[in-house]
Order: sequence, then C-alpha cells, then structure tokens
Amino acid sequence: MQVVWIKHSLFYKLFEETNNKLPLETGGMLLGYKDVYNNIVISDLIGPGPNAVHKKYSFIPDGEYQQNELTRIYFESSRITTYLGDWHSHPYENSYMSWRDKKTLKKIAKTKSAREPNPIFIIIGTKTNEAKCWKYNKDTFECIESLEIKVYE
Ligand SMILES: [Zn+2]
Repeated sequence: MQVVWIKHSLFYKLFEETNNKLPLETGGMLLGYKDVYNNIVISDLIGPGPNAVHKKYSFIPDGEYQQNELTRIYFESSRITTYLGDWHSHPYENSYMSWRDKKTLKKIAKTKSAREPNPIFIIIGTKTNEAKCWKYNKDTFECIESLEIKVYE
C-alpha cells in the first residue's frame, strides 16, 4: 500500500499556514519524489504566492510565482524534486474532497505540463484538525483514494 511521507517541519507548516489564514482558505504545492517502494516523499512546499486570492470557500494561487519556484527547486535539486500535487485548507470544515476538489484534481492529472498523471491532494480540515491525502487514479479514471500520511523527522 502506497503511503505518503512528509517531513515533520513541513507537516507542521501546513497547519500553521492554515491557521494563519483563517477564516480564509489557503494552500500551495507539494514537491518531492517517489522512493524505491513507490511511496511518495514530500520534501518541499511552495506557498500560495504574493498575488494569491484567498476567500472563504476558495483560493486561487499565484501561478506565476509557483511556476518560478517549482523551476528553481527542480534545478537546484538536480531534477529530483518534482511536482506531486497541491494542498489546501478547509476552514471550519472536514478534510474530505468537495465536488470541485475532485474536478480540480482530475484537471491537474490531465494537464501535461504538470507531468504528474497521479497527482495527490492534501486537505487540512480545521473542524477536525486533521490532514487527509487524496489521489487521482489514472487507471480507473474516477477513483480517488485516501492515502496514509506518515510524518518523518
Ligand atoms: Zn477543497
């Protein structure tokens, strides 16, 4: 069973950024690589960016900022650290995928420039104060499964 590893400091940062932006939604990009067991390892985050739009039930990242950061980190890591997916917060809600989240995740999976046919989504729900990780399955097209998140030091 594929799991998602995330550095403790980064996992903490997801909650910190979420709480700092309340009652508005926020999010960002998840970067990393797959290990030899095909587990996902999150090693870097990219923030929402200075021109991101934060609303109560939606959030639009600063695309230009994120793309520049992604390119920088990719080359600085000797092309090891790549785009894995996105994360966002659900202020005062749980961390389940909304209908729109499913649509967005599917869209990312089909975006060739994202180069990730099986992107993941981490949702931080402040009502339950938990993080859930979702994944688009390109083989079954629709299927979205929840992956276990493991924190490492
Ligand atoms: Zn959502």
